[in-house]
Amino acid sequence: MSDDKIIFNGVSMTRDWPQRIKEAQEIVSVRIEENIYPRVKFGEEKRDWGAERVACRDCGVVKGQFHVPNCDVEQCPKCGGQLISCDCGDAEAV
Ligand SMILES: [Zn+2]
Ligand SMILES: [Zn+2]
Repeated sequence: MSDDKIIFNGVSMTRDWPQRIKEAQEIVSVRIEENIYPRVKFGEEKRDWGAERVACRDCGVVKGQFHVPNCDVEQCPKCGGQLISCDCGDAEAV
């Protein structure tokens, strides 16, 4: 694996990342404990990340796309917090 970077959606990322973005769009919901929640798309967060103007600063998706899993901008659909750090437990792709 080379660590060459490319620019995609205006964000510097590794060459395999556009494929990860593509795959992420197929994960439309997550299971948190016993419940299934629809994922929060970039631009639908309570916090304004500037989705109208820029791609996600962490994973490079554009407004209306799902974040790449483990993106630190993705909002937890259960509590509204940061998905990777909130206390809801693991969010499993379903
Ligand atoms: Zn993201
Ligand atoms: Zn949560």
